[in-house]
Amino acid sequence: MTDKTFTPRKLINIHTHIRCGDDVDRKVAVWKKEGAIRTCVLCTSLSPGDPGWGVMSNEDLQPWLAKYPDHLIGFAGLNLALPDLPSAVDDLHARGFRGFKCIRPNRPYDDDSYMPLYEAAARRRMPILFHTGSLSYPPGYRGPCTIDFMRPARLERIARYFPELPVIGAHLGLPWGHEAVGLALSRPNLYFDISGGSGAPLHGSHMKKALSSFEGADPADPEQHYALKLFRTKLLFGTDNPPVSRWVPRAEDIMDHLRIPADAREEFYWKTSAKLLGIAV
Ligand SMILES: [Zn+2]
Repeated sequence: MTDKTFTPRKLINIHTHIRCGDDVDRKVAVWKKEGAIRTCVLCTSLSPGDPGWGVMSNEDLQPWLAKYPDHLIGFAGLNLALPDLPSAVDDLHARGFRGFKCIRPNRPYDDDSYMPLYEAAARRRMPILFHTGSLSYPPGYRGPCTIDFMRPARLERIARYFPELPVIGAHLGLPWGHEAVGLALSRPNLYFDISGGSGAPLHGSHMKKALSSFEGADPADPEQHYALKLFRTKLLFGTDNPPVSRWVPRAEDIMDHLRIPADAREEFYWKTSAKLLGIAV
């Protein structure tokens, strides 16, 4: 990685969390100082008694959404094992949430039983961010979920059935990066963030590999330079757990490697997210 100092720049963070016990006022102040014009905070809502990785629940986050309506965008966690998810969509919208986060399902994401949920979210045009790919399971986890339930291909049917629903896959679906790339290029309402791996150099290398064109491709030909198409329209800036100040240099290094021009970087950092979130900036 090139040794770049962090320079704040305008961005929308599509994927981060607030942990229980965090100083939220301080976090928001830091995010704004780092250049974020909006920050999407993702909650987890798993089975009762599940530790949920120490991330704030919907109930924990709700008062902070009311305190920072001009900055925080709440993505409510949904426990996919619960019945009557469509009415939960209406309830969470009324409580100020503007999107949803799904993770560790008890069936594949494209299972028939989840379709009424996606239909309800599409009706309200509330984006859903799905964890895709590898996952750190809690020690001793013996539940039904496998990473196959969360692979990028499981989003294809959802995006196709509900073309008005913005569908976001997290982490470019690693280790299925090429599958995610193919799907993002073919489905207009399917997006991916490139967060993950704590923003470490190894994660950056995986992203470079997944997003590189085929051997012998002409980078001057837009049809062959598909990373350029993706950064212009389908990839979104997100940090997950690390701070913005770690992720911007990582993203710059990935885009330097892939020869992404400055205007496409603006799309990636905030313009595409602004469009899909319906924010006029
Ligand atoms: Zn996350």
